[in-house]
Amino acid sequence: MNRKALDELKHQIPLLDYVQAQGWQQARPIGFGRFLGLCPLHTDQKPSFLVDPNKNLFFCYGCRRGGDVIRFAELYHQVEFSQAIALLLEWCGLAPLLDQVTDFYRIQLFRHRDAVAYLYDRGLRSSEVIEHMRIGYAPGRCLRGWLNQLGYPTSTLRQAGLVTAISRDAFHQRVVFPLEGNLYGRSIGNSSPHLFLPGSKGGLYAWEQVRREPEIILMEGLFDYAVLWQAGFRNVTCSMGSHLNARQFQQLCDGPRTVYLAFDSDANQSGQQAAQSISRRLWAQGIPARRVQLPEGQDPNDFFVAGGDAHQFQRLLEAARP
Ligand SMILES: [Zn+2]
Repeated sequence: MNRKALDELKHQIPLLDYVQAQGWQQARPIGFGRFLGLCPLHTDQKPSFLVDPNKNLFFCYGCRRGGDVIRFAELYHQVEFSQAIALLLEWCGLAPLLDQVTDFYRIQLFRHRDAVAYLYDRGLRSSEVIEHMRIGYAPGRCLRGWLNQLGYPTSTLRQAGLVTAISRDAFHQRVVFPLEGNLYGRSIGNSSPHLFLPGSKGGLYAWEQVRREPEIILMEGLFDYAVLWQAGFRNVTCSMGSHLNARQFQQLCDGPRTVYLAFDSDANQSGQQAAQSISRRLWAQGIPARRVQLPEGQDPNDFFVAGGDAHQFQRLLEAARP
């Protein structure tokens, strides 16, 4: 990529929009159009991260790092320059499209009683958690037409994985959760239960909201996250599978904290083994980890659906061992 193309890319992505899309909050205006907030690059106690939207630059008075949107992407995602460019290019095209898709599916959810009933059966019983996680529903056979009308050509949608090779909606009868740069669809019918768009599943779920907590509860799935959040636990995140990608593991290690691993208690021990291996790797990085023992055959979602409550789960946390 030459200098002109780089300048265009930087011009195309307002730094403030990008930083906010990563979950940057608590920004307050401090004059001359600038904003100050907690630093997303280090464990910050008082706001030290400054964004100047006019210059499209940031600077942190805490970790003394600063630069443009490419530099921010490098530091935030812990990747090299060329990879940061690739992530930004992807973000430019994908982020607005996925926002449209998310909004569309959220409207569909309330038109489909079977989808709401499915969520209810999985223990998601407050509209608050549905709002918080921006959960939607993909009935199938209607997204492509809608996006075509908005001006997105089918080829773009195919490239993003939203539409199949034969131009059908990829998400069909699925409850849909927006992730960072991806979507997760859970089938409420007979098709295979899990579906992501092609590409990375991203970092830990809603990481920016929990990374400053001294104790974090990590679970495997979004339905586990949902019931704990609903029960009042705010220090929760999930890895969308028992395998952590490199970025997710780095996130757990990016500051001092204790990690509670509440993985599935599988009959074949796969959840327990995954938790044990992550626990060892965390301890090796100086991060204390504790494994939460769920009743045989249950994941945190089952625990709550079966009638468990916040108080009982709290006791499991207290009993958790390294
Ligand atoms: Zn900083």
